[in-house]
Amino acid sequence: MRPIVKILVTALSVVAVASCQQKEETTTRTSFFDKSGMDTTVSPGDDFFTYANGKWVKETKIPDDQTGWGSFNTLYEENLQKTKSILTEAAGAGAKTGSIEQQVGDLYASGLDTTTIDKLGYEPLKAELAQIGALNDYKEALNYLASSQSNPGGKFIGYYVGADDRQSSLNRINFGQAGLSLPEKDYYTKTDESTKKIRTAFLNYAAKLFTLVGVDSLSAKTKANTILAFETALAQSHKEQADLRDPVANYNKLSVADLTKQMPNLNWRALLNSMKLTSIDTVLVGQPGYYKALDKTLPTVPIGELKDKLVFDLLDENARLLSQPFEQARYEFYGRTLYGQPKQADRWKRVTQFVDRGLGEALGQLWVKKYFPAEAKERMLTLVNNLQKVYRERIEKLDWMAPETKKVALVKLDRFVKKIGYPDKWKDYSEVTIKRDDFYGNVQQTYIHHVKEDFAKINKPVDRAEWMMTPPTVNAYANPTNNEIVFPAGILQFPFFDKDADDAINYGAIGMVIGHEMTHLFDDQGRQYDANGNLRDWWTKADAERFNTKTQAVVNQYNNFTVLDNLHLNGRLTLGENLADLGGITLAYQAFKLTKQGQGTEKIDGFTPDQRFFLGFAQVWRTKVRDESLRVRVATDPHSPDKFRVNGPLTNFAPFYAAFDVKPGQKLYKPEVQQAKVW
Ligand SMILES: [Zn+2]
Repeated sequence: MRPIVKILVTALSVVAVASCQQKEETTTRTSFFDKSGMDTTVSPGDDFFTYANGKWVKETKIPDDQTGWGSFNTLYEENLQKTKSILTEAAGAGAKTGSIEQQVGDLYASGLDTTTIDKLGYEPLKAELAQIGALNDYKEALNYLASSQSNPGGKFIGYYVGADDRQSSLNRINFGQAGLSLPEKDYYTKTDESTKKIRTAFLNYAAKLFTLVGVDSLSAKTKANTILAFETALAQSHKEQADLRDPVANYNKLSVADLTKQMPNLNWRALLNSMKLTSIDTVLVGQPGYYKALDKTLPTVPIGELKDKLVFDLLDENARLLSQPFEQARYEFYGRTLYGQPKQADRWKRVTQFVDRGLGEALGQLWVKKYFPAEAKERMLTLVNNLQKVYRERIEKLDWMAPETKKVALVKLDRFVKKIGYPDKWKDYSEVTIKRDDFYGNVQQTYIHHVKEDFAKINKPVDRAEWMMTPPTVNAYANPTNNEIVFPAGILQFPFFDKDADDAINYGAIGMVIGHEMTHLFDDQGRQYDANGNLRDWWTKADAERFNTKTQAVVNQYNNFTVLDNLHLNGRLTLGENLADLGGITLAYQAFKLTKQGQGTEKIDGFTPDQRFFLGFAQVWRTKVRDESLRVRVATDPHSPDKFRVNGPLTNFAPFYAAFDVKPGQKLYKPEVQQAKVW
């Protein structure tokens, strides 16, 4: 994953996908706001999230196959059903070999063919297990990892190919910290009960995988302990999640010759040669500390232990493609224990993810043809343009920014690239051979294709037309190196957007999402990139200082939010997202006030236009998340939990006070001087 790209929400489907067992949502599409989900016993000035969504929260049961449930999931589920109908149709008819219908249909069918998959057990991995078994030392181990076609570098070497932050027109390979199975470094050392339980479950999971490939249970336990100890050592070299957000500190352009000298054991030249990147002489290394630690550690690890780790990684990464016991073991750890999901999602939903990830733009083509109306793109573009105009006015009027900084900021704003719905040109998967009876092989083929596609980009110009999300995705992103904001077709539907909804609802919902993504290009990270997407300081010193003072206030505010018992939000980790939420509501509101409804007073459902705007906003963020999942999110997710994505921005927003008569003494009330205002 590219660290700098800002997504609207963290993937909904880390381990699970949406459920079809959920009852029909009660929202009626004639009103566009679910009044029945409100809890009017709560004062809006004390807790607006609960005022707007409290009854829904109380009455909604998170489906058993989910880690959380809310507006994003409901829409995700609808999209999944649409995808299912496309895939079922594609899998059913005798599509021409090599056509995209045949590719997506047969990939889907192969994943549903559990008879074949279960019969094979772990047969598909046996050749590679033998390869690991024959390794004699760490150098051979590195060569084995790097020369993998489908997963070069394995879990040890993390990389992505993308724009060089300081030369955004050029792609480079960028190496980052890796090697861990648990969500982040603190999971290896924290001593609270819930983390200890996770480590114990991890040991059981690792041991289980070994027993499934024929290791006796006592040896399997020893191997599991070895792996945890090894990862614990590696974790110490990892940076904290919040420290990964500094684009300058995480930018290190290095020559391969220098790296090879600095880390002789890793031998970067040999490593890149094994990856068939023989002509690459310059790379980016996000976190050299990790690689230095790996360089020191690897030669000291007994080869037997290193092989155990490689075997575990291979099984762990492929368990979802193997027979039921492997898949079940993986779900038990990541799904049930780590994220608290009581039941595994249906098979077809899990398989659909592999089609979306593996052949996403083939599936996406079929998807938008059937489900994305051209008029939605037009209306969305109008909304985006309206918000852009508002942003321009706001920057012009800022009282804390000097004219010279404003000038550059406005050039950047004017050059925003807006991508809506789906790419102008589709990716070509014609070289990927998909067979109806080979799920493991098919998925490997898609991995190999993606690696080839990525590697072919290195040291080549950036294709600015490329998308990083597939069309059915219920999400959005901002990418500072392309100076772009991107909204896939999947999110441009109710409750985010509906062509028949009133402006209050649309601006509060998708309008805020647009403003959120726009603000990302000026958040604490995004502001460090210029109009061409280059990481370059274009701020006066005084302006940068004023920006940092303002944002520190936001950090402090969010640090004070309590999520669970004594678990606090990490204000530094979530700063960029919180700024985007605050900017998003501000821009959307001002743009809404330019509409006829925004200037009127006519009530709908008993609410003024402004009240409906805020209710529409709160409705898209209504979500319930399991405690286990919430803990992982607080530790790793740059997004605040949804309740704070509503209450956080509003506590800083005077028009909200006016709309709901928020008074001193109420929990969301802050005197004006304490309200955070950045953009
Ligand atoms: Zn965001």
